[in-house]
Amino acid sequence: MHELAGKSAIITGASRGIGAATAREFAALGASVVLAARTLGEIEAIAAEIWAAGGKATAVACDVSRYDDVQAAVERCQQAYGSVDILVNNAGVIEPIGPLAEPDPDLWGAATDINYKGVYYGLRAAIPAMLNQGGGAIVNVSSGAATSALEGWSQYCSSKAGALSLTRSANLEYRDQGIQIVGLSPGTVATEMQVIIKASGINPVSQLDPSIHLPPEMAAKAIAWLCTKEAAEFAGGDVSLRDEDMQRRMGLTL
Ligand code: NAP
Repeated sequence: MHELAGKSAIITGASRGIGAATAREFAALGASVVLAARTLGEIEAIAAEIWAAGGKATAVACDVSRYDDVQAAVERCQQAYGSVDILVNNAGVIEPIGPLAEPDPDLWGAATDINYKGVYYGLRAAIPAMLNQGGGAIVNVSSGAATSALEGWSQYCSSKAGALSLTRSANLEYRDQGIQIVGLSPGTVATEMQVIIKASGINPVSQLDPSIHLPPEMAAKAIAWLCTKEAAEFAGGDVSLRDEDMQRRMGLTL
């Protein structure tokens, strides 16, 4: 039986891309999943698919830039499955793309509310529940942009850098209380986000051939592995899925 079997997990941004693949992977491993995203129809359809395959899933409409929504998702997970063993802070947006002085400041701020404050809200809501039950695991979906500047991505790079800082701080504060917190930089992954990036034509990432992108299912397997005890040594870090030694360690191959 896999270590995740019988665990409960909240996955934000579960309506498509990496989040949807993670929900399916966790359910296949025997975890009960709460799918959280703004588009209720999409997450309800994935939850129905998981039930049909013999798994357990609950869809919760949740905008991670609203603390009340995130808190409600945590409470829903506790009510449905009795605990919150795992949180995957995956929801994220790439736009606005463009030179720093051009985008609407309100759009820039709204994206920061998702990519940065949304991660804080997830940690803030889930950690007290995890402390009460004696521990848990949290994966913050990071990016190479957290540690490298890219033109046109001032919002994305700086908010991912802020989220990485939250991973590091939270690890220092809670690792000794049984909460394993780590970041995953998934490399480039074949999702809608990369379609938007390609269409922008800005910076070298938009010039990449789509064939080099990793499948979202591989990111999902990496996230599942990072929630296991074997991954404890990476807590507080920002694990790169492009690192071939790391792929081998996770039992993944391209
Ligand atoms: P995606 O296909 O565009 O999916 C993004 C997900 O985030 C969707 O499910 C979306 O659902 C959700 N979301 C956006 N805003 C939200 C909000 N305010 N509240 C709740 N959910 C929200 O992108 P992806 O590639 O799977 O990205 C997932 C994560 O991986 C992101 O954090 C991204 O930064 C990171 N990442 C991706 C790549 C890549 O190459 N794809 C590389 C590095 C890091 P709704 O619109 O239904 O709310």
